[in-house]
Amino acid sequence: MESAQMTTATAAIGVDSMLRDQLLDRRQRLESARTHDHAQDDLSRLLGEVDAALSRFESGGFGVCVDCRGTVETERLLNDPMAMVCLSCLTEAQRASLEDDLQLAADIQRGLLPRSGIACDKWHVDFAYHPASIVSGDYVDIIERGDEFYFILGDVSGKGMAASLLMSNLHAVFHSLVPTGMPLDDLMARANHLLCESSLANQYATLVLGKANRVGEVEITNAGHLAPVLIKNGMIGELNHSGLPLGMFCSTEFEVNKVNLDAGDSLVLFTDGVTETVNADGSEYGSCGLFDALGSDHETTGRIRHCLSHIDGFRGTAPRHDDLTILSLAYN
Ligand SMILES: [Zn+2]
Repeated sequence: MESAQMTTATAAIGVDSMLRDQLLDRRQRLESARTHDHAQDDLSRLLGEVDAALSRFESGGFGVCVDCRGTVETERLLNDPMAMVCLSCLTEAQRASLEDDLQLAADIQRGLLPRSGIACDKWHVDFAYHPASIVSGDYVDIIERGDEFYFILGDVSGKGMAASLLMSNLHAVFHSLVPTGMPLDDLMARANHLLCESSLANQYATLVLGKANRVGEVEITNAGHLAPVLIKNGMIGELNHSGLPLGMFCSTEFEVNKVNLDAGDSLVLFTDGVTETVNADGSEYGSCGLFDALGSDHETTGRIRHCLSHIDGFRGTAPRHDDLTILSLAYN
């Protein structure tokens, strides 16, 4: 999810002072470790780096690349406030090490995906998960519980490693909360609370959480995510009820809506990487494009394949910018 506006706004009000506090905290920890530890040289070196970062704060040079005088990416500063060069100015070795980290994160992330082509009673569930780069900020999940199953599709603000870490966090939160069997609105409120406690101030996620049973009853709650598409009796419509994203405000409440699916009906959830796909002319795929793709009759796996090739056909030679995830649930 693109969140440039959000990131700029929060950067202006808080990220700088947060980073400065973080540096002061590190300084204090290093000082107290130095009185106990024998590895004096290493600690002194680190202390020197923290002090240099703090003095860059005083001189207004914090976040300025020492090589090209460009801007060091905020996301990287949040991970490492001592970073002094922008991504483009990293040495070959630094770049390789960063790529190793990203590859490891991607492996971990792939391990968190549900298996594809799940059949739960009369339900057939499938998804496509296509990160724009090595790691993704999209989250898709299916969690079975008794004769029901929960489905989740979300999109984390920002990109890269920070977004993928928050995605892993969401995975852990929902895998801990779903087995408790608490009502969907409580579950979402609890997840929101946990996310508020654990994520950075400028991180949030939009997310749809649903629960389906064997007779086709679906409960669904939406935290600021794009409306799920309901295909019922061959008609296509949107489930438009939505609340605030997760991780923004600690005390958000969430509304649960119910919908009954009959044989042949489906639900399709997706991230904005689908609708915000842009072609070479600069036109957006949009919900019209998606509705168009969903209009043709397909079973779940075929539907996803059809949507993907429809999107690819629309995009043509234009590059892909965002993570793209589609989840399809068909009741038969
Ligand atoms: Zn640079």
